[in-house]
Parts: sequence; structure tokens; C-alpha cells
Amino acid sequence: MNHSASQQLFLEAKTLMPGGVNSPVRAFSAVGTDPVFIREGNGPLITDVDNNTYLDYVLSWGPMILGHADPDVVAALQNVIGKGTSFGAPTEAENQLASLMIESVPSLEKVRMVNSGTEAVMSALRLARGYTNRSKIVKFNGNYHGHSDALLVKAGSGLLTHGIPGSPGVPEGVVQYTLTARFNDEAMIRNIFETHGNDIAAVIVEPVAGNMGVVPMTQSFAHLLRTLTSQAGSLLVFDEVMTGFRLAFQGAQSLYGITPDLCCYSKIIGGGLPVGAFGGRKDIMDHMAPEGPVYQAGTLSGNPLAMTAGHATLKKLQENPGYYDQLNLQGSRLAQGLRDLINKHNIPAQVNQKGSMLCLFFTEGEVTDFESAAACDTQRFARFFRGMLSRGIYLPASQFEAWFLSVLHTDSHIHQTLEAVDATLSEID
Ligand code: PMP
Repeated sequence: MNHSASQQLFLEAKTLMPGGVNSPVRAFSAVGTDPVFIREGNGPLITDVDNNTYLDYVLSWGPMILGHADPDVVAALQNVIGKGTSFGAPTEAENQLASLMIESVPSLEKVRMVNSGTEAVMSALRLARGYTNRSKIVKFNGNYHGHSDALLVKAGSGLLTHGIPGSPGVPEGVVQYTLTARFNDEAMIRNIFETHGNDIAAVIVEPVAGNMGVVPMTQSFAHLLRTLTSQAGSLLVFDEVMTGFRLAFQGAQSLYGITPDLCCYSKIIGGGLPVGAFGGRKDIMDHMAPEGPVYQAGTLSGNPLAMTAGHATLKKLQENPGYYDQLNLQGSRLAQGLRDLINKHNIPAQVNQKGSMLCLFFTEGEVTDFESAAACDTQRFARFFRGMLSRGIYLPASQFEAWFLSVLHTDSHIHQTLEAVDATLSEID
């Protein structure tokens, strides 16, 4: 596979942007190769600047559940783009996306639109602190909630990929109110609530963690979080940035049967444009300015293009409930196929899968938390990644990121992927 045009662009990019990228995992440094530069996408496929085409399991890290350049999303955008791209004033498009979200997800009574997942979580936690008049928040090791200061503690995603425990530039004072706990560890979270319960504003959690590979919360852990937070007068905040409108139309919360107080969104609700949102109980949301005292604002928040792409995406998902059965089916087919191949090649590895999110972990033991995910053989993953890329399968360039499926990943794509896995595992045995 020729990558000369990508290599040329990367050399130039490195003189222009730190590491040549605008988000660290894109640099491919953890997998020992250079990134490919993408020219265009079509359905489940992306094509790079050297004309190589790949089956895409990154899907822009989750948003492109309908595949790239979905005709309905493109048409909706074409319909509005000539009419002005930002006004900094209310538009009907904001009502349309907000009302679709609120009518779809029972825990959402009001929402506020922002521009990224980072912003959504940062603002939701400010609101939780303002509402409860408490300072402490609890997050789980290996969960990633964006790059705001208070949450860059024992986080997943790029920090885990690049082995960064926290970040220089975050003053100690800012993280002193962030308590960290082991994911799925019931004794530890009980303990934290016994000691700090009265000071905890919120517990934030990825219901199905997708930033240390894929690691679902257990049912009983989810229900324990709901009980402990309710008893202590703390808020339960679900970070559904990845899982929202992906694992089910009503999100991971519907699978767990839990009603969080606040939830955070991004990715799918923007249909590939920059969007975030947080929402929840009306009495809590009404603490936001200008209704209430908790401040948050955004020049481009509720941007008409982003609202339009998001609305077109959610509408299509709503009108095709069968999509979720299909995503779950293809997810489990791929997971089963991977398990069969691991056995065939006798490689110590695990597959975690929840619906259309999955991850192949190169480790012997079951992966249930950050500690067990961190035991993976990242060098073996790097070899696997390179083998798959050379066979036209574009995976996340990290052992600790989720693979995503779109509604356009068909049986033949799964078959093609498993053939590539079979050949790659023979090579890296
Ligand atoms: N929360 C979760 C669960 C995420 O997966 C991410 C990003 N992958 C974020 C928050 C941050 O979102 P963004 O990159 O849009 O700031």
C-alpha cells in the first residue's frame, strides 16, 4: 500500500501543528506508524490521499453511525448552508434538535447545546456543583470525559494511549475535588460515599466505558451508583457522549434501566458536525443562566449547521428502529468471529462488545476496569493495527479505544474484516 502522499502531508503538518495533529490519538504514534490523511468518506468506507480505501471502524470516533456522507444528512445541510452559517441568535433548528432529544430520552426534560463533549461534561459538572452547593466529584479510573482540567485525572483515551497519568498545566488545586474510584468496584464506591457522601456534588460515569477499550458497567454497579447518589443528595451524571443514540435510541440508560439526573451528549447528536449537549431534570437545568445563577455560554452553541446535521441523523435513527437490531447483530457477529479467530490462533486476547461498540484486548484476563485493561500487550496491538491497516481495515490507533459500527456495516464487511484478522493474527503470532 502506497502512503507517499500521506507521508508528505504529515511532514508538513508536523511543522504546523504539535505532533502534526489536532488531537493526539490521530498521530498513530502509539502504533508505530504514520497517520493516513483522509480525503473523503462514503458510507462505511474512507479513502486516503493516496487513493487507498479502508473499511472504517473509527467513524470519526463514533458520530458517523449512518456512515459517511449520508444522503439525508447531506441534503439537509445543503438546504440550509446557503442561508447563513451562524447568527448567535435563537433559531428554529435548536428547538427541533432539543425537542427530538427530549421526546426520545425520558431523563431529559431540558437541554443546553454546546460545541463538544468536553464542554458538555465541564458544564454539567459546574451545574451539579452549583445546584448541590458541594465541591467534590467522583470519576472512575479509565473513564474519559474530555480534557477539562478537573477531569484529567486517571483518564482514558489519549492519556491512557500515550501513558500520561494527568497533565502538566492542571494545577493541583483544581483536581483536589476530583475523587477517583475503580470502575465496577462496589466496595470502593461505598467507601467513598461513607467518607465523603455529604460533600459529593456528582458522580460522573461512562455507562459503557469506551475510552479504555470497551468496558460495560455491571448492572449491579449501575444500580448501586443510583442508590448511593440518591441517598447522599448527590447527582448521578451519565456521560453518554459515545453511547447516546448508539447503544439504543434512548441510550445506555435505557439498557440499564437507570434515570440519571444529568446526561452529557456529543458525537451522534451532531451528525459529524461539532456539537455537545447536556440535559436532565428541569429543576436542575433551570439553575443555568439566564434562568438561574450557574453561568455557561457559547458563541457558536446551537449552530444551525450542527443542529441540522444532528436533527437529520436522529430523525433517520428514530424512523428506522430496526437499525439498532442490525447494529447489535453485526456487533455480536464481529465479536463472535474475533473470539473464534483468537481461539484458532491461540492468542491471549479478549473481546468486549456492547451493541455496535467493541474492542479486542490483547490480554489473558477478563477486562472489567482500567487496571485489567492496562495489562494489555500494547506492542502486539500495534502489530495487529498495522497488519489490519495494510489490509484495508481502519481501526482506532490505540488498544484503548472503541471500534464502532455503522448501519452500513454489512455481513460482507464483517466477513472481509474477519479474513483480515485471520491473516494478521497469523503474521503476529
Ligand atoms: N466523554 C466521552 C465519553 C468521550 O468519549 C469523549 C470523546 N471521545 C468526550 C467526553 C469528549 O468529547 P470531545 O472530544 O467532543 O470534547
